[in-house]
Amino acid sequence: MGLVNAVEAIVSNLYEEFQKSYDIKCGCQHCKEDILALVLNRIPPKYTSSEKGQLYIKTLYLNPQLQSDVMRELMRAALIVEHNQNHVAIEGV
Ligand SMILES: [Zn+2]
Repeated sequence: MGLVNAVEAIVSNLYEEFQKSYDIKCGCQHCKEDILALVLNRIPPKYTSSEKGQLYIKTLYLNPQLQSDVMRELMRAALIVEHNQNHVAIEGV
């Protein structure tokens, strides 16, 4: 399956949750990816090369503390993207 950052799938799942409780100003693919990129730049990646490893990392993220960390980062990123809504990828920040 190659090398995968398991955190990516987790953040993307939690984005779906986040979307339900937060009124995102623009839901286009570009803004979504900007938000995900900002969050993923701030959360340490967890790489794995096996499906087993990916499952293990997913169970780590059932931890409510970790989930609320991700939610907080999503909120922060959504606000940044909202205020820079030019549909051009933001680097760094
Ligand atoms: Zn947009």
